[in-house]
Amino acid sequence: MSQAIRNPEIKFTKLFINNEYVDSVNKKTFPTINPVTEEKICEVAEGEKADVDKAVNAAMAAFKLGSPWRTMDASQRGKLLYKVADLIERDLDYLASLETLDSGKLFTDSVDDMDLTVKCFRYYAGWADKITGKTISSDGPYFVYTRHEPVGVVGAIVPWNFPLNMACLKLAPALACGNVVVLKPAEQTPLTALYVGSLFEEAGFPPGVVNIISGYGPTAGAAISEHMDVSKVSFTGSTEVGRIIQAAAAKSNLKRVTLELGGKSPNIVFADSDMDYAVEQAHLALFFNQGQCCSAGSRTFVQDTMYDEFVKKSVERAQKRSVGDPFDRVIEQGPQVNEEQFNKILDLIESGKKEGAKLECGGARYGDKGYFLQPTVFSDVKDHMRIAKEEIFGPVQQIIKFSNINEVIERANKTTYGLAAAVFTKDIDKATTISHSLQAGTVWVNCYECGAPQAPFGGFKMSGFGREWGEYGLLPYLEVKTVTMKVTSKNS
Ligand code: NAD
Repeated sequence: MSQAIRNPEIKFTKLFINNEYVDSVNKKTFPTINPVTEEKICEVAEGEKADVDKAVNAAMAAFKLGSPWRTMDASQRGKLLYKVADLIERDLDYLASLETLDSGKLFTDSVDDMDLTVKCFRYYAGWADKITGKTISSDGPYFVYTRHEPVGVVGAIVPWNFPLNMACLKLAPALACGNVVVLKPAEQTPLTALYVGSLFEEAGFPPGVVNIISGYGPTAGAAISEHMDVSKVSFTGSTEVGRIIQAAAAKSNLKRVTLELGGKSPNIVFADSDMDYAVEQAHLALFFNQGQCCSAGSRTFVQDTMYDEFVKKSVERAQKRSVGDPFDRVIEQGPQVNEEQFNKILDLIESGKKEGAKLECGGARYGDKGYFLQPTVFSDVKDHMRIAKEEIFGPVQQIIKFSNINEVIERANKTTYGLAAAVFTKDIDKATTISHSLQAGTVWVNCYECGAPQAPFGGFKMSGFGREWGEYGLLPYLEVKTVTMKVTSKNS
């Protein structure tokens, strides 16, 4: 069993460029805050445009034709990725502890994140030497084949809710395909990504293949998305920033962009489902990770004949949810990541009350120190209310009544988002109809948040485009090149 380290030593706080830890060009730093105590953990180097330029130059040098990285066998790239997985596994207790310290995530959830990160590296390590083009039966006296080539310098910009996991979900497929990467972790949670830089070096990656620039979005993040030598940006974060990134790509070099953005995912519970199981699943679908999940089941649609009983049981469950020290294994809910998110959630709770939803429990701060919130449940939520339309990203459950399948499909789809959805029913026809009718990149049937490294994940509509995980997760990191050779003889 993993052992938490309550005060993990902070080993790396500088930028990681060319396999070395360096100060930022202007020597600036910024604080990273412990959300449990509201106190500073440490100062971290603040990268800006000049640092991004340095990192991109290092990456371009590593990507030069004939370089050690470009001439490396694909199977060897896979071997290096397996090695990183082994090193993360070796340091798992430390990394999970550091993640909890920096983000306020439960230690047990941080351990799960690290396990998934290890699996992610192993999954994509296996792909490294299995990425193939095609030979094509073209018209004319030609031999035609395709090569799947790396796009070049990949900019990876990630959020704070699954800090290392999201970073590695971009690093692993990008590197498996032979790219070089400049990663910007979220300013709220830079510590695990900075540490992992040292593991890439230890694993034997050539200098410049992986570079990590901590810093703020409008400076370091913008420098990546506006850069003329960055060939692709892979972004996970808010829809608002996703738009900025796509506009920056359009205005600069038309770099390729994939966006994993927000959601307001419907979780549809039919009266024929197992009530207690559905209540628990709907609870976890929303409250997991303090509600800070892009795919959170944040619109719980419940069929009218079971609605009152479902609300009563959901409230009882939320009231039992233990809140406190994220390092304590019996605790179910830690703090929100920072003051800004904490205040945004309280504001949305107020809007729910004002717009006439019924506050069943919670609705306020928990304790008097740290960014803790009471588990909150609203019933009588109507589709037009802000809490039913906007992403709350906090421990606030909305329970909405519906009466029949056609109505709930229409209402569930009436959102600008389309990331995930779920249906709870014992009727296979309903499950299939719902799964095929919802505009969402993922539909779970009688389960929630059941992702796996092998299965693609991503959004419809304003939840973004492109897929991560699985074989589909390789495609954004590859260019397809067609080679056509004249031949002197052609036979079938
Ligand atoms: P955010 O969009 O503010 O920040 C995400 C990242 O973008 C950070 O690294 C930030 O520094 C950077 N950034 C901010 N402004 C930028 C700019 N102008 N140019 C370039 N980079 C910039 O999001 P957040 O508050 O950190 O995270 C919460 C959001 O992320 C939620 O909306 C959530 O739904 C979404 N999210 C989506 C997924 C998914 O897979 N679809 C996963 C996790 C989080």
